Amino acid sequence: MFELDEQTQMVATMVRQWCQTQLAPKIPVLEAGTEQPFDLMKKMAKQFGFDTMLGASVKKRIARLRSGEADDSDRQLAKGIGSPMMMHVVVKELSRVSPGFAMGFGVSMGLVGGAIVAKGTADQIEKWGLPVATLQQIGSWCLTEPDAGSDAFGSMRTTATPNEAGGYILKGSKTFITNGPGADVFLVYAKIDRGEPDPGVATFIVERGMQGVSVGPPFKKMGMRDSPTSEVFFDDVHLGAEHLLGGKEKGRGGRSDTKDSLGSERSGIPAMAWGIIERCYDQSLQYVRDRKQFGRPIGAFQAVQLHIADLYLKLRTVESVVYRTAWMQQHGKKDMAFVNASKAMCAQYAVEAAMTAVQLHGGYGYMEELGIEKLARDAKLLELGAGTTDINLLAAARQLIGVSHDA
Ligand SMILES: Cc1cc2nc3c(=O)[nH]c(=O)nc-3n(C[C@H](O)[C@H](O)[C@H](O)COP(=O)(O)OP(=O)(O)OC[C@H]3O[C@@H](n4cnc5c(N)ncnc54)[C@H](O)[C@@H]3O)c2cc1C
Repeated sequence: MFELDEQTQMVATMVRQWCQTQLAPKIPVLEAGTEQPFDLMKKMAKQFGFDTMLGASVKKRIARLRSGEADDSDRQLAKGIGSPMMMHVVVKELSRVSPGFAMGFGVSMGLVGGAIVAKGTADQIEKWGLPVATLQQIGSWCLTEPDAGSDAFGSMRTTATPNEAGGYILKGSKTFITNGPGADVFLVYAKIDRGEPDPGVATFIVERGMQGVSVGPPFKKMGMRDSPTSEVFFDDVHLGAEHLLGGKEKGRGGRSDTKDSLGSERSGIPAMAWGIIERCYDQSLQYVRDRKQFGRPIGAFQAVQLHIADLYLKLRTVESVVYRTAWMQQHGKKDMAFVNASKAMCAQYAVEAAMTAVQLHGGYGYMEELGIEKLARDAKLLELGAGTTDINLLAAARQLIGVSHDA
């Protein structure tokens, strides 16, 4: 169970090489914001044949939906590129070099493409799910609002008001949206406004270029600078009924679609943490062997040895979480307490490991050139995005105890 099969290992090696030759040289311009990562994402999907592989499995689902044979087994996008573990390994390899690139890639392909493929009608999958899941187009996942973060549902102000034509008028704004500046397709969560006291939440597919849709400039951030993030505004956007994901309103049940997406987002964080920690461990191990002070390698000092042991422990722990996550996904098992709690732990370990790696590299670790300070800045996002650590742990506790809540 804790070994990659030959094919996954081969893909891991190829992605690592791609990251070294194609992604790493781009980091300075991506971090500076003078280039956006979207063309590179599309290029990568093509180069590895993800577009063809995922395209084939998405087309199969469309055909099965149309013939009435579709079932849960063909909802899972990751199986299209081999297995859930294959997807985690790709994210891990990307995260060794650029957690921001991995995040943008995962949001588009997995979160937006995956949600449309899993929940959309055949027509919606064909029109929007297929191009986004295969990265011919870029997707953004729009839940957070300026005043609705942890309390995403309770404080949500974005509304979709039914109109006489059988469609909706979408009004509101979203913030901190990954890929916002370059997205072609926005998956937007809104409250259905019929003047009722406890409105349902529904998911809408919105296209760039529709009248009333605009995006703000990229935010300047502490980390994840190679992943453009922005506000997205919906100013009385007229949507036909075909933009409602799944084709029908589900009332309060609409929240479960969002929660499924949150679950899948949280399941992807351990793989990002794995990449960050593995790079920190590899680079630190080499450094403590090479760097000499007081006439010997710093790895000869016990205090340094303890840090290496700590990095190793975190690496193996997080790796095990990813194997278990992939196994659960492969076998269709749901355990949201595990997903929430392990996401929180892996995020914390990534932050601590990156800081330890900076420390072990001394002043050099603080310099841009080694790439470690970037990982330390980027890792912090894992404790905030996909729900903050406290919110993740509270959600896990509530699932274990059996009390309900929206977070
Ligand atoms: C770089 C980046 C990319 C992002 N990408 C996306 C994206 O693509 N799509 C999207 O929809 N969102 C995205 N987000 C938003 C992210 O999911 C939110 O920032 C996160 O959910 C926290 O919400 P908030 O920032 O409003 O913090 P708040 O909810 O205001 O929380 C502030 C603090 O209060 C604490 N807190 C709040 N409520 C409770 C409570 N009940 N109990 C205990 N503590 C509590 C929190 O833990 C936190 O410490 C992104 C964020 C960042 C920074």
